[in-house]
Amino acid sequence: MDHGPLGLSTRAIHGSFEPRPDGTPVAPVLAQSATFTHPVGGTRETLYARYGNNPNQIAIARRLANLEGAESALFTSSGMGAIALAHLAVLRPGDHLLSSAWIYGGVHRLFTQEFGRFGIEVTFVQPTQARAWKRALRKNTRALFLESPTNPLLRVLDIEPLAALCKTEGLALLVDATFATPVNFRPLEHGADIVIHSATKYLNGHSDVLAGAVAGSESLIEEVRRLMKLWGQALDPFAAWLIDRGMRTLAVRMARHNATGLAVAEWCARQPGIAAVHYPGLPSHPDHDLANRVLNGYGGMLGIELVGGVPAAERFLRALRIVTHAPSLGGVETLVSEPRVTSHASLSADERAEAGIPDGFLRFSLGLEDADDLIADMAQALAGV
Ligand SMILES: *Cc1c(COP(=O)(O)O)cnc(C)c1O
Repeated sequence: MDHGPLGLSTRAIHGSFEPRPDGTPVAPVLAQSATFTHPVGGTRETLYARYGNNPNQIAIARRLANLEGAESALFTSSGMGAIALAHLAVLRPGDHLLSSAWIYGGVHRLFTQEFGRFGIEVTFVQPTQARAWKRALRKNTRALFLESPTNPLLRVLDIEPLAALCKTEGLALLVDATFATPVNFRPLEHGADIVIHSATKYLNGHSDVLAGAVAGSESLIEEVRRLMKLWGQALDPFAAWLIDRGMRTLAVRMARHNATGLAVAEWCARQPGIAAVHYPGLPSHPDHDLANRVLNGYGGMLGIELVGGVPAAERFLRALRIVTHAPSLGGVETLVSEPRVTSHASLSADERAEAGIPDGFLRFSLGLEDADDLIADMAQALAGV
């Protein structure tokens, strides 16, 4: 019985259909067990949670692979763990990694402070021009890494020219698509080799689990799994069970994040107290046309610059009632943070301004509350500024 390709909502809930005997629990059973009975003298695969083969770990890995259109996937105990292992899977001592300059602060530090000890050189490129990437290639370049959409300017990158470059040069293309999720953007369909997520964010969606994930070809994911067995970034089974629950609503949550994102961005664009709005769904955004071409939704992340800089931003933050001041993103609740003191704290004020993130910049992760309530909360806080 072939029902044709199933939609993302159906696949987010069911994965691929497998026959279930009568009496099977409808909700997944939590196997909160580090180890499993093993046949005496048997050669079958050892089941052990650090290997990523606990049933709860397997269930969410299959579901993510299905959503990404990947042969295989693997969850890890954090997004950083996923990024570290994915890179170690494709890089060797003496290799050069070419990275977008617009990446998560922790990843930037991983590259600059840690990769050197493995003899891996990393250089950074302003990512919006394919030519800049090409110019920065070296003889020993082995992989390209980028994030799209980026934090906090929500720049959207065109990965197809980069995928073509990687193909001709024999390089691996790794893409962190945490902000998009497979609902809004599936990098593998555009030629990426590995897609990486901080599953702490939208994939789990409830701000109560720390996790990461990688998806790609069977052989690449097997190498990531081999490394995870040795370096130890496995996900706890209960965390996997919570992500299983979270991922069931991924498509419907993302549809709501997309709608609220656009509504709040359009409202912000009309406020005289807001100097600039960064949201790929607005025609004023530099990547609006590209976003229309490659994204299925603009997402729930939004950047704004208040007139009045840091003092105005701090007054505004103190006055918010529904919107919570906290780092991180992708949960059901709306959060706001200042790149000045979080992701871009290691830069000087001038360097931040140079990067297009002036002090007073606020980054919102719009949650699933009623958009009207979020707008009313922002309006009353803005009135007090
Ligand atoms: C949060 C985040 C990470 C790091 O993920 P953790 O789960 O916190 O380890 C990496 N990339 C992006 C884009 C993120 O937002």
